[in-house]
Amino acid sequence: MKKFIIANWKMNPQTLAEAKRIFNATKLGVKNIRNIEVVICPPFVCLDNLQQATGNLKLGAQNCFFEEKGAFTGEISPLILKDLGVEYVILGHSERRRIFNEDDEIINKKIKLVLKEKLKPIFCIGENQKQKNQEKTFEVLKKQVLKGLTGVSRKLVKNLIIAYEPVWAIGSGKSCQSSYAQTVNIFLKKIISQKYGRKTAQTTPILYGGSVNSENVLPYFQEAGMVGVLVGGASLNTKEFIKIIKTVSKA
Ligand code: PEP
Repeated sequence: MKKFIIANWKMNPQTLAEAKRIFNATKLGVKNIRNIEVVICPPFVCLDNLQQATGNLKLGAQNCFFEEKGAFTGEISPLILKDLGVEYVILGHSERRRIFNEDDEIINKKIKLVLKEKLKPIFCIGENQKQKNQEKTFEVLKKQVLKGLTGVSRKLVKNLIIAYEPVWAIGSGKSCQSSYAQTVNIFLKKIISQKYGRKTAQTTPILYGGSVNSENVLPYFQEAGMVGVLVGGASLNTKEFIKIIKTVSKA
């Protein structure tokens, strides 16, 4: 299966010039990488200026709205994203859930529209520290997956990517143990299999995200069986990000 490395720049950098610098340096660094799909998800306003994405360097958005058009001040339609050459959309990121009160129903509406528009949602799920301490990880993940995918047909789900991002690992420097990520990976495949059948479970990419760097990235592929990673902080450090990509590419 194709490998994925997704860069979530969040609300960074603070100038377009710096965004272009990071993007162009990354583009140069991945020029000879063939076996990985690298997706850059910059702030919306940078998308139009980074359109020169080519080959296996693709553009993603960090969010979108669940309606195609209309009176929704401040929101972004998936149709606008498509027009800008965007292929992927991160949905359900824990920062959207926690800071912007996005619940499973809202995320479900977004996933359905993004799939309908033939964009590829990177559907983020994950338990927080309290839920982990209370051993509720699997209960939380199952609810997030099933509610997020309510009403999504087997035909449409083929463009879906799932990213397991334990909230306690995001931006904390406390990356998840690969054995734990492996258990979650197996659990998620079981849920997808029960809902959509074994074939879909085998072909749906499952990624890990949370404090990934060039030192800890490999076990997520080699031990946890993930087919990709979602990288936040480290994706803004071009040298480190290219090192992550090359490490995965050579493995
Ligand atoms: C993220 O926000 O999706 C993420 C994985 O961040 P970081 O790599 O900084 O933990």
